[in-house]
Amino acid sequence: WTANVHGLEEAAFANLCVSCGLCHEICPVDIDIPFMIAKVKEQDVEAHGQPTAERFFMASEAFAKVACLVAPLANGLFRRAPARILMEWTLGVDRRRTLPPFARRTLRSRVNARGTKAGRVGKVAFFPDLYAEYNNPDLGLKAIDILERLGYSVLIPDVRWSGMPYVSYGQLGKASALAAFNLRVLGPLVDEGYDIVSTEPTAVYMLRKVYPKLREGELAKKVGAHAYGFFEFIERGLANLPLRPSRDVAGVVGFHIPCHDRALTSGAPAMRFLERASYRVRTVETGTCCGIAGTFGMKSGWLGYDLSMAVGEKLFEQFRQSGCDLIATESSVCTLQLRDGLGRAILHPLDMVRFEGAG
Ligand code: SF4
Repeated sequence: WTANVHGLEEAAFANLCVSCGLCHEICPVDIDIPFMIAKVKEQDVEAHGQPTAERFFMASEAFAKVACLVAPLANGLFRRAPARILMEWTLGVDRRRTLPPFARRTLRSRVNARGTKAGRVGKVAFFPDLYAEYNNPDLGLKAIDILERLGYSVLIPDVRWSGMPYVSYGQLGKASALAAFNLRVLGPLVDEGYDIVSTEPTAVYMLRKVYPKLREGELAKKVGAHAYGFFEFIERGLANLPLRPSRDVAGVVGFHIPCHDRALTSGAPAMRFLERASYRVRTVETGTCCGIAGTFGMKSGWLGYDLSMAVGEKLFEQFRQSGCDLIATESSVCTLQLRDGLGRAILHPLDMVRFEGAG
């Protein structure tokens, strides 16, 4: 409204919106404020250009591919202060933000080498997104192992990343082109009976909630209707999994719900997964974003890292007061924020279980 009635210059606050989607979830008349703001950002970028840091984060997929190829070197550089200062000056990535290390081998190459098992229960197209593909393929392998134990045939389709930064930074044309590419790959798989499953809440949010807005028509709706979060998808077989805790269960697990998961499952299936492995779990939350907001909290300066940590402080304090012995969340970026804010290990639920009989 402000942008259209009073002009773009009066709507600069639109850039503070981080596309968390929470306002749309609670709006009683279904006004899609995040998407309206994304369109204002698009006009703003056309009028004023794109900051360097935003261009860098929109190139995350290309960057991850290169970083993976030279993973030991890249990981070593990310730990060195001079390299981080250079990254801050040239790319606008805050030197204080912990960056996830890159893996030597991608999930795709490891799955190709290991092979997959034929299942009789159903077919799953596993959507890795950047984190499970390039940073933490072990996480993707654990998810695929569980899906196969439950009797699913699993493949990794030739998709690209889900592309949330294009939406957050007002490049809706690029977001739409990426959505079209992924939908062209996933549509035929859905027709063949595949469900699409991801461990990254933002990827599921994109497939289910954002792609249908970027690409009107039946294809996006069809794919969105078959997209599931990992824990949501395996719930129907949870009772058949001989899960055991791989950590001390004497204490309590504090669970953080990522913003994009609030719009999907509110984290309930992931918490039930942990409870099935004998953990006592409770949510620790402020009802809002942890502060990192995707890549927003990786940007340098006040409108980035500083603001993200200020927003997160209320949640950090709740965790400090909670007395929780372990902290868990599903989102790769919330993990970074909680680790940086609390100085403690943050676990993915899949890293907290083992199978009965396994070592
Ligand atoms: S930051 Fe989240 S709650 Fe605020 S306007 Fe943007 S999408 Fe809505």
